[in-house]
Amino acid sequence: NTANTAGAGLSNVIRKKLMGYVGFANLPNQVHRKSVRKGFQFTAMVVGESGLGKSTLINTLFNTTLYPPKEPLPPAAERPKTVAIESIGADIEENGVRLHLTVVDTPGFGDFVNNDDSWKPIVENIESRFDSYLEQENRVNRIKIVDNRVHACLYFIQPTGHSLKQLDIEFMRRLHTKVNLIPIIAKADTLTDEEVAEFKERILADIAHHNIHIFQAPTYENEDEETLAEAEEIASKIPFAVVGSDKLVDTPDGRQVRGRAYPWGVVEVDNEEHCDFVKLRQMLVRTYMEELREYTNDVLYENWRTEKLLSMGVAQDSSVFKEINPAARLQEERVLHEAKLAKMEAEMKMVFQQKVQEKEAKLKQSEEELYARHKEMKDALEKQRIDLEDKKRKIESGRPLTPEKSSTTRKKGFLRT
Ligand code: GDP
Repeated sequence: NTANTAGAGLSNVIRKKLMGYVGFANLPNQVHRKSVRKGFQFTAMVVGESGLGKSTLINTLFNTTLYPPKEPLPPAAERPKTVAIESIGADIEENGVRLHLTVVDTPGFGDFVNNDDSWKPIVENIESRFDSYLEQENRVNRIKIVDNRVHACLYFIQPTGHSLKQLDIEFMRRLHTKVNLIPIIAKADTLTDEEVAEFKERILADIAHHNIHIFQAPTYENEDEETLAEAEEIASKIPFAVVGSDKLVDTPDGRQVRGRAYPWGVVEVDNEEHCDFVKLRQMLVRTYMEELREYTNDVLYENWRTEKLLSMGVAQDSSVFKEINPAARLQEERVLHEAKLAKMEAEMKMVFQQKVQEKEAKLKQSEEELYARHKEMKDALEKQRIDLEDKKRKIESGRPLTPEKSSTTRKKGFLRT
């Protein structure tokens, strides 16, 4: 459906040829620089019985001594009764790229007489990491989110050569919707090539029979042939039959390699003809680390989050959702607050405009009054001027004054006499 919508959108896009260099071709470099500066976080979990070579494989994968050599397992009676969850973190750097790697070990898994509930603490741990992420997402300040979610789970299968055990199936069934499962046949050097091939077939049949989803290298449309071939080749090796070793050994032809020496020869870790270590490393580190992180975020976490909210009686976008989801509530409060501010601003503007209009009207009125007074005075002065000029002309022409005025003079003269 999404693809359809995206396709429909694309059909409206007009392809244009650029007239010259614009510069957005540099975007991948910008992203690259930024990611390098920020560094990466990756969390891998290892699950499997003690002694299957989990610590050795992690050391081999990251070419560092993350795990010191282990003490031999104490007798069953002296072992703890529950599966423990232990994390080791390390900052590693390669060609200037920093990776904060966390490996989560699950000592005790499969080591008891009764292992029925061995998967439980592991599921709980994975979910609590989702919880912590959700809690951080809902915070007001979401700038510094630490991603402790498990991005891949290496599940170590004992090299029995038969088929999966009930414990393996139960674990994978419980976990496959919560984590990227990567099944591994441990210590593959203890099986012959034919045994490995048959064992793989049976494992895959069991996985299919129980509808267990294991992580597959994703392929996209328009991908080049080389990438597709690589993904196919990786997929064809699942479950990876691996050999781990953090020691260098001498080959009969005089090379020094990471491997395990036997009287009959040397098993080389990094030789694709000897085991699937190289392909596993490609899947986990070299080619699909980012895909593992993305699938964890976009699919596994998103499904868990939706389910969690639904189980709390919350449907997305309903009012209940807003009540329970603090982020949605905050957003709503912010919108309301902004609307209130906008209303206040509009009211203030209106009052201001009204006052301006009143003042303008008053000014206009006084201007008119001033103008009228000015005109009155001007008219009066004009009249005076005309009178005076009239008088002047009469005096100059020697004519007597107006009868009205002469009678007054006469009257005055009469009175005086
Ligand atoms: P963990 O308990 O699963 O962490 O197992 P370790 O990594 O401590 O390994 C247990 C023992 O198995 C050690 O003696 C390792 O040297 C040995 N070991 C580890 N990887 C391999 C492997 O691929 N093949 C063989 N034959 N032995 C291995």
